[in-house]
Amino acid sequence: MSLRVAVVGAGIAGASCARSLADAGASVVVFDKGRVPGGRMAARRMSSVQWDYGAQYFTVRDARFARQVAHWHATSVTQEWTHRPGTGRLSGQGAAGRERWVGVPSMREPALQLLEGLDVRSACRVDAVERKAGRWRVHWMDGQNEPHDQTGFDWLICTAPAPQAAALLRDATPSIVPSIERARMGPTWAVLITTAQATAPPSPTRALGDRIAWLAADDQKPGRSGAGRCFVAHTVPEWSEANVDAEPLAVVEWLRPDLARLLDVPETSLDVSAHRWRFARVVQPAGVPCIVDRAHQTVAAGDWCIEGRVESAYLSGLAAAEAVRTSIRGSTHE
Ligand code: FAD
Repeated sequence: MSLRVAVVGAGIAGASCARSLADAGASVVVFDKGRVPGGRMAARRMSSVQWDYGAQYFTVRDARFARQVAHWHATSVTQEWTHRPGTGRLSGQGAAGRERWVGVPSMREPALQLLEGLDVRSACRVDAVERKAGRWRVHWMDGQNEPHDQTGFDWLICTAPAPQAAALLRDATPSIVPSIERARMGPTWAVLITTAQATAPPSPTRALGDRIAWLAADDQKPGRSGAGRCFVAHTVPEWSEANVDAEPLAVVEWLRPDLARLLDVPETSLDVSAHRWRFARVVQPAGVPCIVDRAHQTVAAGDWCIEGRVESAYLSGLAAAEAVRTSIRGSTHE
């Protein structure tokens, strides 16, 4: 019988881990509380517009991720986000001259491709895990708040953001928790904007004052089919921390004057909503590719292990899968 693995989280870390284990012959079930996979590689669509309101793009440093991105590119899952003068498309390249890549038609696409054909349970919030007689049982609430559980998993892999991973694993595998708690994460408000007013799309820009850290015209990204003009803004870390518990409607009204000024349109022409990412950024990583408790057959993984980037999350997921495979190889040789 093949190895049975439960993966909590269908962000890019959970997706890369699940794909790698499934390709190695494991039977994998992926649980995610979101309605669609992707995690912080998130997109929202409304009539003729679509926003990527989490990760904006990603860059590539590692050869393993480069191979994956080459595959995504070859299968039209990603495109390079390049500069076209006067169109608001990105000027210049990312850090150290690296290309910037986006999922097509949205940032969710890379995770969706990795999870193709796997058993993915969306809208399932895992609220407890327990280990009995060498097997994991996973308890979750579905979209209607109905409880469910499933047992028989040999390994449990948790790719939720560090504070959520620590909370979930605290009772069942307390020895792993201090290592997870080495990582610290911080919030960001994402602001989704449309305007009927004609406006020149600004070049995607950073550091726009003491509240807005990033503003980009999402309709200018490659492979977007929407007809409407739409923008995404992110708030700076300090302001996000100070206002993490604010009401989204209040955030919209506080930021509206800044956004109107930056876009050079009247405040009344802006249609704005706000999304709080409580665990958006990695402030302090755990400093390891993933955290493994072999005795309890548990791994915690995610961007927060390495660095707050899509590539790091992908690599942490691979490291989690490798830890499981190594452990199995080790036990068959003992
Ligand atoms: P996540 O994507 O957070 O996935 C974790 C998953 O676990 C989620 O889907 C969540 O629903 C699920 N989950 C959590 N708890 C439970 C539970 N109890 N039960 C079931 N499911 C659960 N990176 C870049 O490289 N470039 C950028 O431009 C960039 N910009 C960003 C902007 C913002 C606003 C944000 C928020 C992030 C940005 N990032 C960027 C970071 C990037 O998005 C992350 O590094 C990466 O997506 C993290 O992937 P992950 O799989 O580790 O975690």
